[in-house]
Amino acid sequence: MRLQILQYGSPVLRAKGRPVEEITDRIRQLAADMIETTRAANGVGLAAQQIGQPLQLTVVDVSQVEDRPSTLKLNGQEVDPRAASPLVLINPEIELGTETSLGVEGCLSFPEITGEIERAEMVRARAQTLDGSTIHIEATGLFARALQHEVDHLNGILFIDRMNSAAKAALASRLKRMQKETERGHRKRRKELEPEIAL
Ligand SMILES: [Zn+2]
Repeated sequence: MRLQILQYGSPVLRAKGRPVEEITDRIRQLAADMIETTRAANGVGLAAQQIGQPLQLTVVDVSQVEDRPSTLKLNGQEVDPRAASPLVLINPEIELGTETSLGVEGCLSFPEITGEIERAEMVRARAQTLDGSTIHIEATGLFARALQHEVDHLNGILFIDRMNSAAKAALASRLKRMQKETERGHRKRRKELEPEIAL
């Protein structure tokens, strides 16, 4: 099922995700829905916060991207990052390489906003997969960037937090507007949920 992606201004985007203690049917369904939602939105990743669940659960999917290369090793084995996508990662722990690069990023929770973000060029990560096994990841390029972006989400960090101050200043009024629209949407939905009382 395709899920609604929450936008900037939703408080849950700032919540640190709880560790997933047990991989239940609910987690498996959530992961499947997140994959479907990412694909439908042409995204390269989605964190559980973005669909309203503050959990350490994320999806990375570079399968649709042709023009931004990645390398990926899973458990020491070189694999095709596009063929290995989507990857569902539970409770990921990430270790950043020292070399950094600037690259353009967007975020499904910030429609039509992009920014240049400095990220580690190489990352190593350890995470659980849906079958409960532990996976070791080494990635560069877009996959490494996407992984850092998603792990940030799991900790309540958004890509605007990593923009330089000039970029942030240039976006300030759009961000404020987006936040207001999101808050208005929340209030409207709450109102719709309240039962009509006729006296
Ligand atoms: Zn994002």
